[in-house]
Amino acid sequence: MKTKLSNGLADPVKINRGGVRLNHQKTTNFSEKLAALSPKKVYIPLNMHIGAECKPTVKVSDQVKVGQLIADSEAFVSSPIHASISGIIKSIQIADINHSGSTTQIIEIESDGKMTPYENLTVPQINSREDFLLEVRKSGLVGLGGAGFPTSVKLTLEDNEVDILIANGAECEPYITVDDYKMRFCNEDILDAMRAIMKWLGIPNGIIAIEDNKMEAANILLKKLNQEPQKYADIKIVIMNSVYPKGMEKLVIYNTTGRIVPGGKLPKDVGCVVMNTTSLAELGKYLRTGMPLVNKSITVAGSAVSNPQNVDVPIGSLISDLLAFAGLKDKPDLVMMGGPMMGIALSSLENPVLKQNNAILAMLRNEFQLANESNCIRCAKCIDVCPMQLQPTSLVRAIKKNQIEQAKNDGLLTCMECGSCDYICPAKIPLVQYLRFGKKQK
Ligand code: SF4
Ligand code: SF4
Repeated sequence: MKTKLSNGLADPVKINRGGVRLNHQKTTNFSEKLAALSPKKVYIPLNMHIGAECKPTVKVSDQVKVGQLIADSEAFVSSPIHASISGIIKSIQIADINHSGSTTQIIEIESDGKMTPYENLTVPQINSREDFLLEVRKSGLVGLGGAGFPTSVKLTLEDNEVDILIANGAECEPYITVDDYKMRFCNEDILDAMRAIMKWLGIPNGIIAIEDNKMEAANILLKKLNQEPQKYADIKIVIMNSVYPKGMEKLVIYNTTGRIVPGGKLPKDVGCVVMNTTSLAELGKYLRTGMPLVNKSITVAGSAVSNPQNVDVPIGSLISDLLAFAGLKDKPDLVMMGGPMMGIALSSLENPVLKQNNAILAMLRNEFQLANESNCIRCAKCIDVCPMQLQPTSLVRAIKKNQIEQAKNDGLLTCMECGSCDYICPAKIPLVQYLRFGKKQK
């Protein structure tokens, strides 16, 4: 499958598949600089990715420096983990960080206050596709938009399997502006990473997908493409209207190429690979410097936060330290990890920041509603907004009756848990909670 696309700007697919228009509350979208958090301690879990948990390659009392390998796995689907601060390994414990019933090893590092980079890091030398994939693995990159899927696994493709690389800069969740920041200030790293992926994996076309509420980022990137038209001849930008959840992988593919990923299939099955722009920026930085993923850019916002901002956070920093750094006006009534549509409410602020986290939202009571569920009024609004063309009301009815097989036959497993149905429901039925519960049933 090899298609040639034209350069510059291209039209999006005009037909929306469901979705809702949201008040975006992107109060940090004009930040010019990332503030840097310098924690005294970090707690780095060894399961920050989909796939096999890593095993420690260090022991208690070892001295470590920034970027030094501290845990790895021999499994293909996994991703190495590196020290995010310099200092001493204080402990290696087993804990249940999310209180979810599943435990992981956690490496505690106490800072020496110096943030000394590991001296054995070198700029990657790449001469083949195999070298490239090895370096992607060594970078410790996982899907930074929230998925946590190891990037080296995502980019292990058959020859000619994919003809379009899509840089996903949609960032459709309210509040979060990290991708926007990276597109405005780290665009060379994004473009370099795109060109490296396209070169070494033989992908002829690149698309950067951006929602129309990030036109400054779009214009900066377009200017870059136009300044060096030969260098970027195979990359174009698609501006999409900002209808949530346009940033979800299957919808970005549809809205930029018109290709539909069938239920149970992957983007590569329709010739596409999608990476979010922050992941690309980190890959570009790694290819330029050899420093693996040790920091995460996080949007800290919400009505309880004194100084909403984007912060560069050593992975494993405590959320309590991050909130203290940004300042709190008052004790928050709700703290969320991720955006308001797909994020999760935190039961403890002593959880660490993970590779795949992109926002911490601290809200006061007047900023969110507690659902007071009433009976379904059969208005079908949830059906209208579902981007996967499901019937959430029928799925939930089946789940409530424990007819899980029926719900699965009706497409339960293709639900992306985007929350659009939940958001629009006038009866305040927590549809996504029911859908998640149904998915977990055998
Ligand atoms: S949460 Fe699932 S069912 Fe609801 S709108 Fe999103 S994809 Fe459709
Ligand atoms: S939006 Fe809510 S009330 Fe309307 S049909 Fe769907 S579940 Fe029922």
